[in-house]
Amino acid sequence: MGRRSADIGASMGAERGRALGRADAGANAKQRPKRPLRVLITGGAGFIGSHLAEAFLEQGARVTALDRGPSAKVAHLLEHPRFQLVNGSVLDRAELEPLVADADLVYHLAAVVGVEHYVGDPYEVLHVNVDGTENVLDLALAHGCRVVFSSTSEVYGRNPHVPWSEDSDRVLGSTGIDRWCYSTSKAVGEHFCFAYGRRGLPVTVLRYFNVYGPRLDRADVGRVITIFIGQLLRNQPLTVVNQGRQTRCFTYIDDAVRATVAAGLCEAAVGKVINVGSDVELSILELAERMIKLAKSGSTIELVPEKAVYGNSYEDIQRRVPDVTRMREILGVHDLVPLDVGMRRTLDWFAAQARS
Ligand code: UDP
Repeated sequence: MGRRSADIGASMGAERGRALGRADAGANAKQRPKRPLRVLITGGAGFIGSHLAEAFLEQGARVTALDRGPSAKVAHLLEHPRFQLVNGSVLDRAELEPLVADADLVYHLAAVVGVEHYVGDPYEVLHVNVDGTENVLDLALAHGCRVVFSSTSEVYGRNPHVPWSEDSDRVLGSTGIDRWCYSTSKAVGEHFCFAYGRRGLPVTVLRYFNVYGPRLDRADVGRVITIFIGQLLRNQPLTVVNQGRQTRCFTYIDDAVRATVAAGLCEAAVGKVINVGSDVELSILELAERMIKLAKSGSTIELVPEKAVYGNSYEDIQRRVPDVTRMREILGVHDLVPLDVGMRRTLDWFAAQARS
């Protein structure tokens, strides 16, 4: 791992030089004493951010996590000599600037995410996800950093023609449906990335597909998997929306992190949008059945109407499946963790949490 980090440091020296427009950056990087890669992760105390921080620390990098939320997901990293957590927001430019200035590579993961927010507080979703992203990109360009922007499969909306390649259309409902504010906010973020790319910022956009694993939300809260886990732990029925025929491709966190790390380090990813996910399509009903079996739980399944769960300002997506050719070819991520294996680890982690 130590040897690997030295290599990364050298290649990022060249990368940062390129961002600054220095033709001799490669040569300079070779002469410079090797130092650890400096990684800033906005939203670094979140689910993907905390796992990404761990991965970079294991590779010998220095990691700063900026987050305004609770620190529980990085509690185990707080004593690490190459890790620091800064409590703050991407909306605060003055606070953000020195952190960006001190980084080689910025992962911009900070965002308001979760259906309860899309339908509960659309202003906050738009403000943080759009204005915060512009702050990060602007400062990264000014300080010669490379950026990886975390976008989402939500940008494709409800395009019925799956699998979605990165060039597939966005198909969204009316702006009267609050659900689409998240998709729109992330698409604006992507457009900002492309615009800053034209101005010389080396930037990569990743679109994640239903990532899950240990530390994903709390049981009962957030995404379908954590809601089902809470119900499983109490042996209550799993609330499957409508008939449960809607599908998703669930991606284990380790695979998402492998792709995310590669996206920040490999040259070929610069300027690209890349789907990150599994392409194994599963209906929500099948998911519920698999989870009940794996947890050996006495839970049953209860079909509930969409409106009872989300109200009127929601519209479900019927199928969500990525084309993952770019993830394989550009990022070199193959052989993903099968659902039963990833779900087993996730259930074990949540069960241990519930006991402690
Ligand atoms: N869902 C469900 N029961 C629940 C919560 C969610 O059946 O208690 C369904 C939801 O309608 C959607 C899918 O699970 O079709 C995934 O929902 P999630 O909130 O995890 O995020 P999404 O993939 O829609 O962004």
